[in-house]
Amino acid sequence: MLKVLKFGGSSMADAIQYKKVRAIVEADPTRRVVVVSAAGKRFKEDHKITDLLYLCHAHVQYGVSFESVFGMIADRYKGIKEDLGLKIDIESHLEQIRKKLISGMSEEELASRGEYLSALLMADYLGFDFVDAAHWLKFRYDGTIDQEESYAALRREAEGRKVVIPGFYGVMPDGQIQTLTRGGSDITGALAAAALDADVYENWTDVSGILMADPRIVEDPQPIDRVTYSELRELSHAGAQVLHEGTIYPVREKKIPLNIRNTNEPDHPGTMIMESFDDSMDMEHRFITGIAGKKDHSIITLTKIGLSSAVGELRRILEVFEDHNIPVEYVPSGLDTVSLVVDSAKVSSCLYSMLGELQKKIKPNNIKVHDQIAIVAAVGRKMAFRAGVSGRIFARLGENGISIRMISQGPDEMNIIVGIDNKDYANAIRVLYNSFVK
Ligand code: ASP
Repeated sequence: MLKVLKFGGSSMADAIQYKKVRAIVEADPTRRVVVVSAAGKRFKEDHKITDLLYLCHAHVQYGVSFESVFGMIADRYKGIKEDLGLKIDIESHLEQIRKKLISGMSEEELASRGEYLSALLMADYLGFDFVDAAHWLKFRYDGTIDQEESYAALRREAEGRKVVIPGFYGVMPDGQIQTLTRGGSDITGALAAAALDADVYENWTDVSGILMADPRIVEDPQPIDRVTYSELRELSHAGAQVLHEGTIYPVREKKIPLNIRNTNEPDHPGTMIMESFDDSMDMEHRFITGIAGKKDHSIITLTKIGLSSAVGELRRILEVFEDHNIPVEYVPSGLDTVSLVVDSAKVSSCLYSMLGELQKKIKPNNIKVHDQIAIVAAVGRKMAFRAGVSGRIFARLGENGISIRMISQGPDEMNIIVGIDNKDYANAIRVLYNSFVK
């Protein structure tokens, strides 16, 4: 049995958090591989170390003294060492970074040093071995990760050992450090779990799992206890900000369950994400898993007599969007109408040229554009087993004076998506939450 754990920035922010991490790791001997982020914020106005590292690089680039920013970074790590009474010579690592910064260090390498220093300290504190991400997480020149090579390298480095690995970066074929996109330590953790065929990937953060709705809109929403990978995809696509994009793929491919946990509330089971659950008949339990949404969409509706019976017309319409590099999010359709739902920000610069082309190629009877549309999705694997869910959703929205501009339901009945006016967005989420969850 092997568990791979990833601790995010807030879990690595100071010595108090390190103590919680150690208690979590030591509570279970199968927790043998630990991936860490750079130190995050200790309080609201505090700075994330990664942000300070980017700032430091900007100073160097503009020829402004970087010493005071670098001092803030150094103080944080020296403080953690001191508070925990560690022996590791973190000062010499900091000095090496400072020297290289003067002689010339890439932005990517400098940004990666937050994770590097965190991992050195945590390895020392846990008594685990430090495995540098530059020794196994291998990028190709095109910026993609060479999964096969990386997995084999990590197995060589870590199999059978207790290790701490820095997240967020890897190495290019020429030996240069390359970072992932921001928040990318989630991906490092997922890759490590997949490489080592872990039994579970525990992602430790500062919330007790994924919430059923956005806490900025719904007061104190409940966490989701179990969610399938497909449901999570739906929720993220509809706007829920959950895990870093790209995290799911490596663990899903290997059918490794992903458990989101809270370092500050370690006894809470958090959210378990798996390929499937054997609970379709469990009707006592909620049948909506989560509610998500996003504002500022446009619905482009084409009407053309005979559209439904014409061969290839839909392809020609979609081609116009493809030519302009515009992703189409949903395509609800009627008999002689088809609507394309797109992100307004992505379409704004080319809307008129696209409409012109649609007019020329398709010769529709009518084209209409509705702006300021919000998309709200109710997602739940159990909706398929329950009649009348969509009816209830529409009824509740109607009772609350919210008009529905668009409806889309996947054939697998895992989601019901409605398009409403931006102004009704927060209210619609609250209405759905209060009707189906509370
Ligand atoms: N430290 C990096 C960031 O702030 C990566 C991470 O924490 O996942 O983006």
